[in-house]
Amino acid sequence: MRFTLEVFAIIRAMELLTILNHCHHHRGFVYQHARFGPNRKSIEVDLRPRAGSGAICSGCHQPAPGYDHLPERRVEFIPFWGILVFFLYRMRRVQCRNCGIVVEEVPWGDGKHQLTRAYMLFLARWARKLSWKETAEAFHTSWDQVCDAVEYVVGWGLEHRTLEPIRAIGWMKSSAPKATNT
Ligand SMILES: [Zn+2]
Repeated sequence: MRFTLEVFAIIRAMELLTILNHCHHHRGFVYQHARFGPNRKSIEVDLRPRAGSGAICSGCHQPAPGYDHLPERRVEFIPFWGILVFFLYRMRRVQCRNCGIVVEEVPWGDGKHQLTRAYMLFLARWARKLSWKETAEAFHTSWDQVCDAVEYVVGWGLEHRTLEPIRAIGWMKSSAPKATNT
């Protein structure tokens, strides 16, 4: 029985890498290994830079030579099959001509958020249909994370001046009182 579960876990992990490479591929980075986390309630996926692929400065968005690595960080991706998924990655710091020594820019998220961009967008979309509390419960996350996701998506929209934020702000305001009551 245990052997069957282990084999099942390996097959699932392999499928997960295939799915990620197909649906959430980032130029310059590769998904390396996927395995269950220590409590078997989560899946951890190692991400690393593709061989020979340089880092991008988060200050000026230009390629910059590497300086060092920061400790490994976990960021949360959209859950699969009801299991939490985390990306594990050691951010590189770069020595940029313009900005000095700064952390690199990565396409799946940034240092200020514990969730990947894809997951924040996913939660923010659901938070338009459900209350923030219901969204948090449905995806086994916290109200704070849903709030953070909505604020991030609205902020991103404002920064990029799309039409979406105007609708998003209206929805955010209408969601806020409901969310604080629940
Ligand atoms: Zn720079």
